[in-house]
Amino acid sequence: VGDLMRAEIAAGTRLGSELRAHAEAGTLAPNDVITSLLRPHLLQAARRSTSTYLVLDGYPRNKAQAQQLELLLVEALGRPNAAPTGTNVDLVLELQLRTDLLLRKAAGRQVCTGCGRGYNTVHIEESLRGIHMPAILPSQPGVCDQCGGTLASRVDDHPDIVARRLIDYHRVAGSILDWYRPKGVVRQLGVEASTDVCGPRIIEAVCRALCLPSP
Ligand SMILES: [Zn+2]
Repeated sequence: VGDLMRAEIAAGTRLGSELRAHAEAGTLAPNDVITSLLRPHLLQAARRSTSTYLVLDGYPRNKAQAQQLELLLVEALGRPNAAPTGTNVDLVLELQLRTDLLLRKAAGRQVCTGCGRGYNTVHIEESLRGIHMPAILPSQPGVCDQCGGTLASRVDDHPDIVARRLIDYHRVAGSILDWYRPKGVVRQLGVEASTDVCGPRIIEAVCRALCLPSP
């Protein structure tokens, strides 16, 4: 959803300029703005296929958005009622990372302005705790390996803004998890490892929870 927001901002639409103001101030965009952003993409994805799963990253961020998502899913799936669990969402995966590690990693994050590929200049090693989060560096500093584009920090990865986003996150994450937990769809996963370890671990957790064969 973050990428959809950045694309909307880059496109310079009215929705985009509203989103930009929130990104620069480090505040979360209002629920109905996010829902308007998501709606056409969700309906399009559902039209393409009703037999595949859709992964949402960064949405819903609070209970009101979770409730709006249920309405969107009912519309997209053409299903009058929620599933027997009381939600049309099959899985909510909570990725857990110690705050100090998250802040350090956010400070080192760089994104290619050309293709969007992510890099990270911060290396974290705490072998006693089994934490291994290596830097992801391009072969040439500041230049994307994939497309030769320039690497830049995201405006909302500034430490002050990340700290504020975290406060917002903790305030609302509890309420949204409380809303999904009784429906039996919440799973937790620690992500204090390198991306090549975490990626397969996330896929495995999703497959296990949805009773799908591991790829
Ligand atoms: Zn690139």
